[in-house]
Amino acid sequence: MNEELKLIQCDDKCGFQLRSHDEKEIMDLGRIHMKNKHNMTPSDAELRAKMTIVPQTAGSKR
Ligand SMILES: [Zn+2]
Repeated sequence: MNEELKLIQCDDKCGFQLRSHDEKEIMDLGRIHMKNKHNMTPSDAELRAKMTIVPQTAGSKR
C-alpha cells in the first residue's frame, strides 16, 4: 500500500512543520501546536487547508 506523506507547515514567522502518513495524527498535532503556540483552535477545514501531500518518489514500490 502506498501511503502518501502529509505535511503541515505553519506560517513563515513560526517555521513549524509537521510530517506524517497519518492524516488524523497530523491534524491532532497541528491542532495542539496551534493551540499551544498561537492560542488558536482551527477547525478541521482550516487545518486541512494547510495540509499538503508530499509525493513519495524515493524507493517507491508497487
Ligand atoms: Zn506555528
